[in-house]
Amino acid sequence: MAIRKIRYDGDDVLRKVCKPIEEITPRIKTLIDDMYDTMYEANGVGLAAPQVGILKRLVVIDTGESGPLTLINPEIVSYDGEQEGDEGCLSLPGLVGTVIRPYHVVCKAYDENMREIMVEGEELLARAICHELDHLDGILYKDKAIDGLYSVDMPQE
Ligand code: ZN
Repeated sequence: MAIRKIRYDGDDVLRKVCKPIEEITPRIKTLIDDMYDTMYEANGVGLAAPQVGILKRLVVIDTGESGPLTLINPEIVSYDGEQEGDEGCLSLPGLVGTVIRPYHVVCKAYDENMREIMVEGEELLARAICHELDHLDGILYKDKAIDGLYSVDMPQE
C-alpha cells in the first residue's frame, strides 16, 4: 500500500499517449493497488495511470455505486445520449468546469487478471469512464470545458 504523488496540470506526463499493458506483472499489480490508495486518499472517483506518472493504459474508478473498477486497455465501444454537468480532476485541484459527455457508454477492457470485461455506465459512471479514458490519450477535461474552469471551495477533511 502506498500513496503515489499526483501529477498536476502543466506536467508533460499528462499530455502523452499511454501504451497498452501486455501482461500483469507484480509491478502492475502494485501500481493498481497504489492507484486505489491514491484515489481514495484524495477523495476522487477515478484515477488514470498517467496521473501518477505512469504512461500505461490503466484506470481505476469508484463512483460509489459501481464499486471499484479496474480497467486495463479500455476502449469505448458504444455510447449514446448526452449529459451536461460539472467535472473536476485530481490533477487540477480546486477547479471544475462544465463538460458535455455521453449519457451512456459501453466500455471494453481487461480486468486485473487480463480477462476481457464489458462495463456499462450511465450518468456519473459514464462521465467518469470518458474522463479517465481521455487521460490515456493526453486529454484533460479543461480542453472540453464549454465555459472554461472556475474555482470551488476544497472540501476540508
Ligand atoms: Zn482527471
